Amino acid sequence: MISLNPYTVKEIRTRTALSPSSMKELKYAVNPYSGCTHGCLYCYAMDMTPVRPGDTQWGKTVYVKRNFIDVLNGEVKKYRRGLVGMSTITDAYQPVDTRYRLARETLKILLSHGFRVTVQTKSSLVLRDFDIISLHRDAADVGTTITTTDRSMSRKIEPLTPGPKARMKIIETADSENIRRWIFYGPIIRGFNDSEENAGSIIELAAATGTRIIIDRYNSYSTPDKLLERDGINVKRSLQNEWWIRFSRRFMEECAKKNVKCNMESDEWFFQNLDTNRTLF
Ligand code: SF4
Repeated sequence: MISLNPYTVKEIRTRTALSPSSMKELKYAVNPYSGCTHGCLYCYAMDMTPVRPGDTQWGKTVYVKRNFIDVLNGEVKKYRRGLVGMSTITDAYQPVDTRYRLARETLKILLSHGFRVTVQTKSSLVLRDFDIISLHRDAADVGTTITTTDRSMSRKIEPLTPGPKARMKIIETADSENIRRWIFYGPIIRGFNDSEENAGSIIELAAATGTRIIIDRYNSYSTPDKLLERDGINVKRSLQNEWWIRFSRRFMEECAKKNVKCNMESDEWFFQNLDTNRTLF
């Protein structure tokens, strides 16, 4: 069978597994792979991942940190416990994880050593590891990004990822297995995936499954800006604060009507203004 997503797998060695996270909610991040074959056009990680000799374009090479589990096993004995984000600059559930199983081993090690883990993935491969997560329900949760419930729209910006249905299935299964879960609705791009219909379908899924939603608008990064604009998606308009206030207020009102909890991803501008203008919501 011919693969529609030909990519190269390279094995590398790493000196660290748990990295201090710059995200205020997380103490650490773990990224057992470098690069991501999901190749989303809006991915900020492509501007943060070192370009190695032979790399062609984002999404075409995945680097497997071959000694990751050995390093992690050493670190968990020494490091202070805290919340670990899996993953932050890749998706730990790369297709090659069916072979290497680094995501599964990482979860096992962290949870059995008293760390809490929040997993974010677009891949239904995470369902494989629900047995581990179920054993540590209070210490783990699973989130998936749903930018749109429309496969053709998703293909434009996330051409190589499992489609929205597969991600909806992650949430539905987590609900039926009583695993803590969340939907990340982002990046929200003005004029692309901010329609009432699209936002409404995500709220419906959250309401049906009792799932929290986190929203975030598109943030500008050099390479993603170019890729999206090349495909005719005007990203700059998403940076307009007036639109974002209007959109997010409306979205939260709709969530409240359906009893859906909704939070906003860190947005410094927004929170600064919220401090001085508490009537925003
Ligand atoms: S799945 Fe995440 S890390 Fe991978 S390309 Fe998409 S946004 Fe980037």
